[in-house]
Amino acid sequence: MAERTVLITGGTRGIGRALALRLAADGIDLVLGYAHDEGAASQTQAEVEALGVRCATVRADLSTETGVDELFDRALAAVPRLDGVVSNAGGTFHIGPLVDTPVDVIQRVLDLNLRAAILVARRAVGALPEGGVLVNVSSGAATTGSPGEYVHYAAAKAGVDALTKGLAIEAAAHGVRVVGVAPGTTETDVHADAGDPGRPARVASRHPMGRVAHPEEIAEVIAFALSPAASYVAGTTIRATGGA
Ligand code: NAD
Repeated sequence: MAERTVLITGGTRGIGRALALRLAADGIDLVLGYAHDEGAASQTQAEVEALGVRCATVRADLSTETGVDELFDRALAAVPRLDGVVSNAGGTFHIGPLVDTPVDVIQRVLDLNLRAAILVARRAVGALPEGGVLVNVSSGAATTGSPGEYVHYAAAKAGVDALTKGLAIEAAAHGVRVVGVAPGTTETDVHADAGDPGRPARVASRHPMGRVAHPEEIAEVIAFALSPAASYVAGTTIRATGGA
């Protein structure tokens, strides 16, 4: 993917940061979206640029339509064109049975994990040229349902899988591939943000491999989905769940 530019939403920490470093090592220029952590954005930008590629960062709240438009408008002003978009921003924010989950938390989870994913995908397919790729980051939760933890998040991610399927068919007519990647539990700060920093260690034994994923292992699968090596992969969601 030499001389190409990829936009990663939520690109400055966790899985997005690991992907940014992975793509930068291949010489791919980047635009990294993020919500509010300026420190993490500057640090990741510096790490990426140290690998010899160009990197712009854009702060935008993707849970609003104006935030999604701002991200794409500023990205397209910063780079000549986008060859790939990775719709990665997401979060759980709370852990517990649905009956105990506040409605405002459910709304926030749906706004970020489903509504924003749809709006980002809409702008992405409008911006990507023939040969471009959109990768939607889903979750193994979409098929397990995440009982007792966040079934509303699982439902949102199942919606993302349907988005990937249908949009891939629409976008194929324009030579754009749409692919999903569904990580299993991965060691990032998303769990601490949901109030349960010990979750990866606690759930490791649920996984056939007896451990959760490192962000770099998920980044590798997304990098494959973006690459010409995946030229005949579209409309499907690749599971990276350690067999779970
Ligand atoms: P993370 O919390 O480390 O990173 C999330 C990113 O999303 C951050 O960069 C943040 O800035 C961005 N973001 C959050 N809210 C935003 C908003 N309103 N507007 C714009 N950006 C926003 O999480 P992660 O674990 O790296 O998760 C990345 C993706 O992988 C998410 O879609 C998540 O649902 C999915 N996922 C994670 C796991 C896991 O166990 N970590 C498992 C399955 C799927």
